[in-house]
Amino acid sequence: MRQITIEEAESVAGKRLDRRRKYATTDDGKPDDCTGHLLFSLGSWTETCTGCFESEDGYPIGAYAHDPKHGCYVGDGCPECGYTGKRRMVMWLPHIEPVEG
Ligand SMILES: [Zn+2]
Repeated sequence: MRQITIEEAESVAGKRLDRRRKYATTDDGKPDDCTGHLLFSLGSWTETCTGCFESEDGYPIGAYAHDPKHGCYVGDGCPECGYTGKRRMVMWLPHIEPVEG
């Protein structure tokens, strides 16, 4: 995956894009084998740190604080997350334009 400029991204998409976002395309410029996508945008979100949060079948074991803003539980804190109990995740995701109309 390589990051591209907004101009390159717009030429890949063939239309105007949200300039506040970051875009990338595949290294060889061909659609991704798994998803068939050619244009990706950087997605970021916050999730519970797996290093200091124990759960079973998706339910927390013990009493953890819940972060309503990010919709995730807050772990006890460990070196992995800098003792915040949460982790900021950043990942290239297939860029899907909102459907118009
Ligand atoms: Zn942690």
